[in-house]
Amino acid sequence: MDRLLLRDNITKLLESIRLTAEKYDRPADAVTLVAVSKTRPANELREAFECGLREFGESYLQEALEKIETLADLPLTWHFIGPIQSNKTRPIAVHFDWVHSVEREKIARRLDEQRPPELPPLQVCLQVNISGEASKSGADPDALPALAAAVMQLPRLQLRGLMAIPARSADPAQQRAAFARLRALFEDLRGTHPELDTLSMGMSGDYRAAIAEGATVLRVGTGIFGPRDG
Ligand SMILES: *Cc1c(COP(=O)(O)O)cnc(C)c1O
Repeated sequence: MDRLLLRDNITKLLESIRLTAEKYDRPADAVTLVAVSKTRPANELREAFECGLREFGESYLQEALEKIETLADLPLTWHFIGPIQSNKTRPIAVHFDWVHSVEREKIARRLDEQRPPELPPLQVCLQVNISGEASKSGADPDALPALAAAVMQLPRLQLRGLMAIPARSADPAQQRAAFARLRALFEDLRGTHPELDTLSMGMSGDYRAAIAEGATVLRVGTGIFGPRDG
């Protein structure tokens, strides 16, 4: 995409996040933007870096690994946000800083075993299915306490919080209701694990509602890089 448009998108998005946080009495530094760069070429990520972005989210492992290698000269933080196949955990454990999409104990165990000892623990969010049958991804809310307890036991993982992708809605009230459900699950979990600090929710179409409901991490793709083809 055009560099000036990319720069303009980033400037406007950061300003909108700042104003929205202010509106809902959230501290300016309470919300971190992860730029979702799946399908985008490495040069666009480099451009986004030059605009001040440091955190990048990827869903497709192979293209992510290529970009991580190409951009190894930059001090970036890499977030894996896509579905995880159990035979693909090793490169995720080796090359990423964060994983937002852990939904099964088996996957968590593999990531823990495969996280290289010289690296800091892998930062983990549990993905929750808050939309019932509308989504196949994410752990059932009822399964969360046991899953969280299991992940807390794994020394090479650091459990940070929860992530969800609600059913798409253009209605801000519906968006907020879905995010409020995730936030309630998060607060419940914090009753037993007060150190949890991350609520990964909000994308291009609903990040304002997510900020209103307490998101600490936004994952925005098209709002930065424009529409993805395919
Ligand atoms: C693609 C993706 C996003 C970004 O979606 P946009 O609508 O492009 O902002 C966020 N989170 C996850 C898990 C994604 O797969």
